[in-house]
Amino acid sequence: MLDTVQTLSAAAVEAPYYLPTGDECAVFDAAYRNKLPLLLKGPTGCGKTRFVAHMAAKLGLPLTTVACHDDLTAADLTGRYLLKGGETVWVDGPLTRTVRQGGILYLDEVVEARKDVTVVLHPLTDDRRVLPLERTGETLEAPDDFMLVVSYNPGYQNIMKTLKPSTRQRFLALEFDFPSPDREAQVVAAESGLPLERVKPLVLLAGKLRELKGQDLEEGVSTRLLVYAASLIRDGMPVMKAVEACLLQPLTDDAEIKRGLDDLAVALL
Ligand code: ADP
Repeated sequence: MLDTVQTLSAAAVEAPYYLPTGDECAVFDAAYRNKLPLLLKGPTGCGKTRFVAHMAAKLGLPLTTVACHDDLTAADLTGRYLLKGGETVWVDGPLTRTVRQGGILYLDEVVEARKDVTVVLHPLTDDRRVLPLERTGETLEAPDDFMLVVSYNPGYQNIMKTLKPSTRQRFLALEFDFPSPDREAQVVAAESGLPLERVKPLVLLAGKLRELKGQDLEEGVSTRLLVYAASLIRDGMPVMKAVEACLLQPLTDDAEIKRGLDDLAVALL
């Protein structure tokens, strides 16, 4: 559980680099000022987590990120009684801690979590803004600087894992996608240190690979994978080797499809 939770104190971080693709910073800002929860939709690796980290630092708020998985229960978020030195003591989970202290709680891939998680989120996501803790008998009121942000990837082909309307209609929502080629090249160059001119062909290849999504490939290349490839190239790895390891191999295990991807890469690079 612990390795899926990361907390950054506001004082410790400078706003990490984030290139906006629209008015998402203004929407985030307005959601925070109006004490509204925010839902970020979009494919994996397109900048959602970076966006939240950037906004948390800009607003001067501590950020706690929980990577949700299918064993994550409400108690993992709220807390539980643990045995410590022969005594039973209550230990806050990351949600309770953030509600007590203020800051942003970011639940990444929230649809992966167990169903009981949405139940504890509901009273926090309407105008009550409270967290009832049945086990301790407390009802915590969220402070003005508490904000809940959740993300999910609507592309995953699992009908069981969509967000229920009763949950999603409690959130302001922002749709994310991969940046336009110009912006993506800018992001990848800034993140990797590889010159823009050398990044452009990689972005072009990523665009072609994304066109194959839904036909031969389940998911397209993410901006994250492009940053990996460009970083390895800047570090001296031959271009095709880096492309193979970062952009092609992660996409498919099917030998025939993989040969098609190789041909595409050779033609474009
Ligand atoms: P997600 O949370 O959507 O899965 P991340 O936020 O982890 O994706 O993004 C993956 C990587 O892509 C980031 O670490 C960053 O290097 C890069 N990235 C993507 N979009 C942007 C952007 N708009 N500005 C800066 N970096 C970005």
